Amino acid sequence: MSNEGKIGAVLVVGGGIGGVQASLDLAESGYLVYLVDTSPSIGGVMAQLDKTFPTNDCAACILSPKLVECGRHLNINLLTNAEVKGIEGEAGNFQVEVSTKPRYIDTEKCTGCGECAKHCPARAISEYDQGLRQRTAIYVTYAQAVPRTYVIDREKCIGCGLCEKICIAGAVKYVDKEEIEIINVGAVILCPGYELCDPKPYYELGYSRYPNVVTSLEFERLLSATGPYRGNLLRPSDRDAPEKIAWIQCVGSRDHINPYCSSVCCTYAVKEAIVAKEHVPIDIKETIFYMDMRTYGKDFDKFYNRAKEEYGVNFVRAKVFRVEEVNGTGNLTLRYLTEDNKLVTEEFNMVVLSMGFQSSAKAIELGKRLGIQLNEYGYCNTNPFSPVETSKPGIYVAGAFSGPKDIPETVMQASGAAGSASALLAPARNTLTKVMEYPPEKDVSGEEPRIGVFVCHCGINIGGYVDVPAVTEYARTLPNVAYAENNLFTCSQDTQERIKAAIEEHNLNRVIVASCTPRTHEPLFQETIREAGLNKYLFEFANIRDQCSWVHMREPEKATEKAKDLVRMAVAKARLLEPLQPLSLPVNRRALVIGAGVAGMTSALTLAEQGFEVSLIERSNVLGGIARRIHYVLNDEGVQDFLNRLIKSVQKHPKIRIYTDTWIVDARGFVGNFTTEVMRYRGRVIEKIDHGVAIIATGAEEYKTEEYLYGRDPRVLTQSELEEEIVKENPDIIGCDNLVMIQCVDSRNDERPYCSRVCCNMAIKNALKLKELKPEMNIYILYRDVRTYGFYEKYYEEARRKGILFLRYDLENKPRVSQIRKDSQFLLRVEVKDKVLGEDVAIDADILALSVAMVPPPEASETAMLYKVPLNEDGFFLEAHVKLRPVDFATDGVFICGLAHAPKSLEESIAQAKAAASRATMVLVKDAVIGEGIVASVNEELCSGCGICEVLCPYGAIAVDRERKVSVVNEALCKGCGTCCAACPSGAVQQRGFTREEISAMLSAALVKV
Ligand SMILES: Cc1cc2nc3c(=O)[nH]c(=O)nc-3n(C[C@H](O)[C@H](O)[C@H](O)COP(=O)(O)OP(=O)(O)OC[C@H]3O[C@@H](n4cnc5c(N)ncnc54)[C@H](O)[C@@H]3O)c2cc1C
Repeated sequence: MSNEGKIGAVLVVGGGIGGVQASLDLAESGYLVYLVDTSPSIGGVMAQLDKTFPTNDCAACILSPKLVECGRHLNINLLTNAEVKGIEGEAGNFQVEVSTKPRYIDTEKCTGCGECAKHCPARAISEYDQGLRQRTAIYVTYAQAVPRTYVIDREKCIGCGLCEKICIAGAVKYVDKEEIEIINVGAVILCPGYELCDPKPYYELGYSRYPNVVTSLEFERLLSATGPYRGNLLRPSDRDAPEKIAWIQCVGSRDHINPYCSSVCCTYAVKEAIVAKEHVPIDIKETIFYMDMRTYGKDFDKFYNRAKEEYGVNFVRAKVFRVEEVNGTGNLTLRYLTEDNKLVTEEFNMVVLSMGFQSSAKAIELGKRLGIQLNEYGYCNTNPFSPVETSKPGIYVAGAFSGPKDIPETVMQASGAAGSASALLAPARNTLTKVMEYPPEKDVSGEEPRIGVFVCHCGINIGGYVDVPAVTEYARTLPNVAYAENNLFTCSQDTQERIKAAIEEHNLNRVIVASCTPRTHEPLFQETIREAGLNKYLFEFANIRDQCSWVHMREPEKATEKAKDLVRMAVAKARLLEPLQPLSLPVNRRALVIGAGVAGMTSALTLAEQGFEVSLIERSNVLGGIARRIHYVLNDEGVQDFLNRLIKSVQKHPKIRIYTDTWIVDARGFVGNFTTEVMRYRGRVIEKIDHGVAIIATGAEEYKTEEYLYGRDPRVLTQSELEEEIVKENPDIIGCDNLVMIQCVDSRNDERPYCSRVCCNMAIKNALKLKELKPEMNIYILYRDVRTYGFYEKYYEEARRKGILFLRYDLENKPRVSQIRKDSQFLLRVEVKDKVLGEDVAIDADILALSVAMVPPPEASETAMLYKVPLNEDGFFLEAHVKLRPVDFATDGVFICGLAHAPKSLEESIAQAKAAASRATMVLVKDAVIGEGIVASVNEELCSGCGICEVLCPYGAIAVDRERKVSVVNEALCKGCGTCCAACPSGAVQQRGFTREEISAMLSAALVKV
């Protein structure tokens, strides 16, 4: 295929989680990637966080494997300490000038041993630790940094020459110079992230005057195991453990300096409060002072409720206007005004300022240099219908540079931008990439096991509670252990090299890592040992973080004993491990997209533009889904024009086959090879579609409420019904005098404990539209929290400016709606106890609009069953990992986007749809997919063909051969869950990698201490 003048390479600017995700997607889709970061290493802000909401995963731990993968990917060139100086050319073929600042270290020679830093006498403040501690002038940004090569800060270096003398690798290079290179790429993805607002202008809150007033990012460092106090929560002034902490929300957000909402701060404050409680043995008292609690993301409200109910965090709706230190104690008094106008003074030991986001000066400069449009706040300007495109064709954007957002949103956008770049450059795919060639696998059969054990400190995550050197020493005493060592971070890039070297040097043929969890880290270590020439199944994990240091935090001796037990069990198993050879399966390059709303159509189009055939399945007889009922959004009027354009593009695309009026009746198969059976025209036609991937985009719908006289009084409408009536210019609506809206109807309650995310914006957009049509109309919005996150905040402000009245109510005191007879009429009376006035308010409404919950369609559970993917407890599809795999399922080859995943805006659905297409592309570009080696196998001599395994297998992966009367495993379908092995009455089914002998050896080892 001709590359049509396009270059099969992409420049990704910024190596935070956004840039890293975009790079990995593109490199796996057949493009060469240049990843440029101004910092000496990649990782961005996420590398500085302690835990992440709402799962409380350790941020650095889940990020590290991705960084290492990026660092060692054959098709990703890391250019750190570098920046983009200029760009020429056009979409498909750009020439980019990149300047790399001198590092004063030869990266080829530096082994990251750290001897230089140990001897460096010059000190500077550590940017990574937010100035809470110092670093040396020769330094590596953080322990798990990628690349883990040192850099000299020449401004702080005193030129003593010690580092040069000490470095045995001869890596110090004082005469290093700036290098300029021109890189030829087809597309650019901008992910330069954000920075926190400067707290200093908020003088009254005491930052920089009082040491115990810290920013939220400083607090993350204080909590972190790799932070200045090694994860012990101590006050900066006196290293005393705080007993009472206050968080002040919206510092640098929703104010005169930054009028927008920073979207993430409410949830991160809730997280920090929970994590702080877990860090300190005493029951600390915590209060979060806020305006509106904007925990609007998927499952975030549950997290907020847990903070209140399980952890006893106190939430106070108040404006804090002064913080003062109490003389000589380091304590701080807060003066605040409560919602009901009470002036309160309260003392705390420590104060955290939940700082807002702002676009960084570096990012703004970059935007200007590249000639892309920035918005009024200095963020990259995007259009709601093309959320990952900048104003310049071929230049895309992802992450916090286009607006404050959290990690999953960033990851989605990054994959989305990768999907768009991939669609642009498809003709040049695989033209510049190299194929990974592994060394031949060593034949270890018949060899005596020689096991290497690597025990991880994980900073103090493990090392703070488990005696890691003792566990290592103990491992050395175990049979067949030929080598053992401990590492500060076994997952860091330099340790991968150490593992490979140890395999070589000690002739190891089995490897055990005792660290965090196989869930996130097993593939990383398997890849490392494969690169060293071992079969990847000769690897075993001992989970001494989750199962020892985390659960036995308060009992370090027992934690250490248990860690020894787990290592002993792992060794017992590793001695019996055998190499496994997974199946290589061909890939059908057709995609199936289920649901032809905006998300489904966007995914279909992104794939079709790359040349993949797509079958687009829609149960109704029209395309468009719920967007057919949306006419305008807050930041754009042209929803229907956009929708019509999208429908036309899909309809006329030669690679897309549309199936309307079609229902899925059966689905079988596995990644690369699915067969879906569909029923068309009310059952008159049944058709089978073979495909390699499936994208679920089945949407959601408005809940049919029975509250507030809905369905019983024609004056009561839902928000989308109201919108339709406004568009129809219904005089009863646009001409009415008093209109009331009630928010959170059937959302955020016991039955549906989630936020439907779009309703606040919907209410405000309808209210503003009505005000435009009839300025004198009285509009009242009864709300619990106004969640106009991000740049939507300005519309909330506009609404208030235009006289729309916001009255707050509580779940315990919901509004009451009744029909009141007056003369010959029935009035629609809405009564509510207003929290601000503290009084009952009664409004006679002409029209009542309800912001009802968004719920998944009833068929979601059937689709979930057919494709063997899970739903969460609210009925939305549950992704593989809420932080880092927001569009994948644990079932390979199946992806999710749009409302089927969770309530979200049109703009967010489009970004996620492109992301799903990008992830699907990573499968479709492959000639073959490698299956799982850990699968069931049947000993035919023992099998009686009873069929119990066939009945129980959740994946349809084992069936009785009726003629031979033995069970046969379809290895491609088998997920290695072990159900059949446990159920087999004759012990004929075994699980490779978990054989009965291996498990018995582990159990025996557990019972017998050496
Ligand atoms: C206190 C705090 C707590 C948080 N907690 C959570 C949480 O628990 N869960 C969650 O989901 N989110 C959380 N977040 C939000 C999270 O940090 C962001 O969503 C995420 O880090 C954004 O990633 P990014 O890649 O867009 O940006 P960044 O992480 O900022 O990465 C940008 C990268 O670009 C580089 N760069 C900048 N300019 C240039 C340039 N001109 N050229 C080249 N490189 C450049 C930078 O060096 C950096 O490496 C928190 C944020 C804060 C402040």
